[in-house]
Amino acid sequence: MTTTSTAPARLSPERLAGGLLSALGAREDRSRGFGKAAGALPGAVPLLGGAPSADALPLDAIRRATAALTEDPQALVAALQYNVTPGITPLREWIAEREGVDASRVLITNGAFHGLSLVFDALLDRGDRIVVEDPTYPLIFRDLQHHEVEVLPLALGEDGFDIDALEARLEAGARPKLLYTVPDFHNPTGFVTPAAQRERLTELAERYGFVIVSDNAYAGLGFPGVEVPADYDLGSELVVHVRTFSKVLGPGLRLGYLVLPTWLVGPATRLRANQDQHSSVLVQSVVERIVGAGDHAPLDGGLDGIADRARAAYADRFDLVAGLLDAALPGGVTVDHRSGGIFLWARVEDEGVDLAAAQQLARTRFGTDAVLGRFFFLEEGTEDRGRLRIGISHLPEDGLRTGVERLVGALTSPEAR
Ligand code: PMP
Repeated sequence: MTTTSTAPARLSPERLAGGLLSALGAREDRSRGFGKAAGALPGAVPLLGGAPSADALPLDAIRRATAALTEDPQALVAALQYNVTPGITPLREWIAEREGVDASRVLITNGAFHGLSLVFDALLDRGDRIVVEDPTYPLIFRDLQHHEVEVLPLALGEDGFDIDALEARLEAGARPKLLYTVPDFHNPTGFVTPAAQRERLTELAERYGFVIVSDNAYAGLGFPGVEVPADYDLGSELVVHVRTFSKVLGPGLRLGYLVLPTWLVGPATRLRANQDQHSSVLVQSVVERIVGAGDHAPLDGGLDGIADRARAAYADRFDLVAGLLDAALPGGVTVDHRSGGIFLWARVEDEGVDLAAAQQLARTRFGTDAVLGRFFFLEEGTEDRGRLRIGISHLPEDGLRTGVERLVGALTSPEAR
């Protein structure tokens, strides 16, 4: 499949409210509650996801870190007091060392979404243009909506980006302020941007003077054996790195960080100070202990050890779901990218299936759900209707089997044709 970029798409309130935003936003919110939203059938097993499953969460490390903190009166008092806006020093220093950057460029946030929102607030003015992958993680539009920006889609096909089309548009005078990308295990496609494409996008950013906002929410969650190219240049003054602890340690912690270009440190920190001063010191102190920052020994293998166990489990779950769907559906499914992360982007090959009807049946009769691929596409008409995004991380194996059986029931129902 190849898709071509067309004219910049203004994010009309209708498109946002009627399609992309309400449809996906509502589902994502529901997925965070594991399908317990009003309207879900009792006992529903939705394949939505976006969160780790209970068995992938580092419960023991959290228990031990919390116990150690609460048993140390001095540390506990410090964790209950105000602290500096960019985040507590030992954790920032640990992050800086891990990323190979100066600690002054690290700003601890309440997760990736907050980091993105902060960066958009710091950078965007009404009428600015931004380049966004198409398909993309559409919850960014919830935030972009109030900036009233114009969006230049960067078509993402099976083999990667249509960078030539973007370059042509830039040559023709489009002047975007920033480019938003999810480089590793892209949501929804699972795509990992190859090194050569990262280099070309960086060259374009340098030539045309825009900022690359690299949302690496799934960093470290590559399936065992999958090679991931080097990150966008951490030393570059044109790249903002957005990271989160959500996907490995738990989204309820609400903790992540930004690695900022030096010129953005001041504006982003001032903005942050005006919002809420800083992230919870208590949560930062727990994470400090788990990752082994300061003089602490890492717990439960630290961030990488915990991620290693999760990614091995997710690889198994991905293969299980892909295999079950492929075997049970007439024509099977195509999966373009088996790389990592927590989503399976599957194309149902039986063209006779009406996916929207099947989804409706799945929700109302079979007791499951998956997100229709079309909600991730920016432009009407480039939507690949055969696609479903299936969350593989939030259910254990038996739950996944049940969810897939039900989804297959809906997809093969005569009413979904
Ligand atoms: N970016 C991407 C690409 C995501 O998929 C998600 C979570 N669904 C986020 C950001 C938000 O992460 P957090 O929970 O840390 O805000």
